Amino acid sequence: MLNINPPVFEPPGKDSFESSLWHETAISAQPYPRLEKAETADTLIIGAGYTGLSAAIELAGSGVDAIVLDAREPGFGASGRNGGQVIPAFKYDPDQIGKVFGESDGRAVLDMVSRTADAVFDLVRRFDIACEPTSGWIQAAHNQRSADMLASRCEQWRARGAPVDMLDAAQIKRLLGTDAYAAGVLFRHAGTVQPLSYARGLAAAAQSLGARIYNYSPVVKLERNGQGWRAATESATVDAARVVIATNGYTTPIWPGLRESIVPVYSMQIATDPLPEPIAREVMPVVRSMADTRRLVCYARKDGADRFIIGMRGPFKARPSEEDARGLVAAARALYPALQGMAFPYRWAGRVAMTADHIPHLHRLAPGVVAGLGYNGRGVGMATMMGRILAAACIDGAQGVPAYPCTPLKPIPFHMFYRVGVQAMVTYYRMLDRYS
Ligand SMILES: Cc1cc2nc3c(=O)[nH]c(=O)nc-3n(C[C@H](O)[C@H](O)[C@H](O)COP(=O)(O)OP(=O)(O)OC[C@H]3O[C@@H](n4cnc5c(N)ncnc54)[C@H](O)[C@@H]3O)c2cc1C
Repeated sequence: MLNINPPVFEPPGKDSFESSLWHETAISAQPYPRLEKAETADTLIIGAGYTGLSAAIELAGSGVDAIVLDAREPGFGASGRNGGQVIPAFKYDPDQIGKVFGESDGRAVLDMVSRTADAVFDLVRRFDIACEPTSGWIQAAHNQRSADMLASRCEQWRARGAPVDMLDAAQIKRLLGTDAYAAGVLFRHAGTVQPLSYARGLAAAAQSLGARIYNYSPVVKLERNGQGWRAATESATVDAARVVIATNGYTTPIWPGLRESIVPVYSMQIATDPLPEPIAREVMPVVRSMADTRRLVCYARKDGADRFIIGMRGPFKARPSEEDARGLVAAARALYPALQGMAFPYRWAGRVAMTADHIPHLHRLAPGVVAGLGYNGRGVGMATMMGRILAAACIDGAQGVPAYPCTPLKPIPFHMFYRVGVQAMVTYYRMLDRYS
């Protein structure tokens, strides 16, 4: 069949995982083996990003014998490449969530979403993960219309007791050091982590609780085996009663229609070396992380050594070129003229899984098989939470499970042409961002 989309796993050298700042500065990876012989487990988890690893922690912590297989290594997907912004919110406002999910589900979902950042920082504390956690994140309005929208968003969150504050231009200047924005909202319970260190720390935690993790073990086939399931890699198999699919934007065709239920789009980031004084004091002097309100969101942060990192939607390339990054360099210098002379030695990209309805999906694909994916660029907190939800779905009589509605799997029509559709939408959004 005609398919004009790029492969899920680029050959080494064509991918940018190893060229990212996060790869350069992360805590060391454990040497997990490759799956070489037939194994059995109560639950098999496919994918070692935040979703799969958080599920593994929950399962192994409850005494369930769990195996995690990754095509490469923990954090190889979006979890090791993202902006590390831990945001306890969907893109929908609280009032809209009630409309999207219905009154009663909406309340539970809102409560769950508002606790996603806590879920991350609790794990960081519990397992003492060295991933530079910081608190505070600002959503900044790129025009007056967005400022009005943010004022309403802020009110809606405050009405539900969330620790958020509306900011004017002078306050943004003081906290972020830029005068590019007229207004913004400070989410005090949001924050940042070093994303690959967080993923590696979760993997180490899961292993310490008894989960068995295998690297370079891509599942190529998943089929029924009596009452349970058999997953085959190229060299071995795992038999398990239950399966959690946690492959998100890197999903391969292991389950009919799953890959077609999301659209993987690339987001690209660049980073400086540590900023020298006084530039470090001018750039994000108080709050170290932000995103704007554009449809093609621009997001930025500093890391623990005062490197400046900025990102936005990128071309369909796992390894963006210097030319591809020109717009990002210009955006960085427009926000912070003090960065004029600074080089950006790091450049990388990863796959963000978008869904047609802009909300994450939880699926029961068959008896004993569950999947959670489609975080629409807000997955650090939500994937961590989804892992807990998926784990609970595999434990009979699980208690204290965060609520999230299960939906039928819906492949997106004409999925094989998604790249063309995304490019048309990006052009349209760019125009809207410029003029409205
Ligand atoms: C550049 C970028 C910036 C982002 N910034 C932010 C941000 O600042 N804040 C935020 O909240 N979210 C952000 N996101 C989104 C967030 O990173 C993701 O939502 C989250 O990491 C998803 O985690 P996951 O575990 O579901 O998937 P992933 O981390 O993508 O993991 C999927 C794993 O599955 C493995 N896999 C796939 N197929 C197979 C197979 N057949 N067999 C075995 N293994 C397989 C892959 O190797 C991969 O390791 C960003 C994403 C990107 C790409």
